[in-house]
Amino acid sequence: MSSDERLDLEFAYTAYQDSCRDLYSPHYYCRRPSGHDGVHAAGFGSGRLRWEHQPDHAPHMLS
Ligand SMILES: [Zn+2]
Repeated sequence: MSSDERLDLEFAYTAYQDSCRDLYSPHYYCRRPSGHDGVHAAGFGSGRLRWEHQPDHAPHMLS
């Protein structure tokens, strides 16, 4: 399984309230489970984004 396929599954099984929600931009937030290892990720297919955590990012701005 590729890492993209693994992320697709993570996103599919992670409810919004259980997700990490680290904010990449006003339109993209991390869809991985909260407390996940490694990089944050959002989006599907060619829109897939991955980013390292930025200490000055304010998480949960959308909630
Ligand atoms: Zn994350």
